[in-house]
Amino acid sequence: MKIERIEALPIRLPLKAVATLSRGVSRTLEEGKQLVLVKMTADDGSVGWGEAGPSRRWSAETIHSCYTSIRHTLAPALIGRDPFDIAGLHAAMNAELAPGLDPGQPVAKAALDLAAHDLVCRKLGINLQAWLGAKGADRIELAYLVSAPDPEGTAKSVQAGLAEGYRAFKVKVGHEPRLDIERVRIVLDLAKGCTVWPDANQGYALEDALRAARGFEALGIELFEQPIAMADFYGMKKLLSATRMSIALDEAAMGLPLVIDLIRREAIEALVIKVNKTGGIHYARQLCDLARNAGLKLIGSGLMDAPIGFAASVHLFAAYGIDYPCDLNGPQHIAGDYLAQPLPMQGRFALVPQLPGLGVVMDEQKIAAFALKL
Ligand SMILES: [Mg+2]
Repeated sequence: MKIERIEALPIRLPLKAVATLSRGVSRTLEEGKQLVLVKMTADDGSVGWGEAGPSRRWSAETIHSCYTSIRHTLAPALIGRDPFDIAGLHAAMNAELAPGLDPGQPVAKAALDLAAHDLVCRKLGINLQAWLGAKGADRIELAYLVSAPDPEGTAKSVQAGLAEGYRAFKVKVGHEPRLDIERVRIVLDLAKGCTVWPDANQGYALEDALRAARGFEALGIELFEQPIAMADFYGMKKLLSATRMSIALDEAAMGLPLVIDLIRREAIEALVIKVNKTGGIHYARQLCDLARNAGLKLIGSGLMDAPIGFAASVHLFAAYGIDYPCDLNGPQHIAGDYLAQPLPMQGRFALVPQLPGLGVVMDEQKIAAFALKL
């Protein structure tokens, strides 16, 4: 079997709300959720779908960089290759766009990785979780994202999440420690008995991170995500020894070489796994295995994923049995989709799709209606 054709289709889905990170909104309402869909077709007519949905305030990739890299560099390297040789596909992509401190434009590579996984699983008539060979769970609990940077907006957001039935809240911090501690206190007061944890997205200087950590710990918080700059390994060790909380690394833990180095330095206790930041399922599953075998907590997250990225994440997280409710906040923020039938949901739980592949049934008329000119 050989990959015969790869199409890159940029689209824009409307947003119902923005998410605010320490650097600013991850994407504006006007920008919407911009994606490059990838349709991979094999010489026997088998098809698989993937997508790249970068956030330029989270990592260095943009919708334009994903589109040009997929179209001109990555896709041509895969034509004529066997889609079942997923490791070979990644080797070919890495020969074209070299890995560095991250896997080398991982969000763009993830689109092709997901399309290949979707294609081979559809061909075999199994879902992605079966391909992964583990059934840790058959559904994933979702967390609600609280990102309004002011106390009033924070309270409103928690109330909206509670009204929708959510029992876990991730709070975006990284602004000013006193204000952030107050916002987390508001969340805990309103969401009694719920799982709550802050994520600073590298927003604090070390001194502020230590101050914030003392405040969060006093409130009973147990997990604090990416408090400081991703390259500050000294600061991470200092934070770990200063608090009883687990420090979860996200931006600092993009790929295998860095995570292995962090484990050797005893600078990581909890790993945030994202299908897109790692370059797709191929590396994400290796990171999950590494984390499990090294005794790290495994935290599931995404980049405001549309249904393809969302479904892939649900298969992966359910296979490994993730430790916390997952911050897959696409359904909370994105107002439309390209599906012919909705993904299976049960309140705040995402069920593992049972259809072959990722379990997404695409509506190509909808895709055409959302087309984005780049
Ligand atoms: Mg994070």
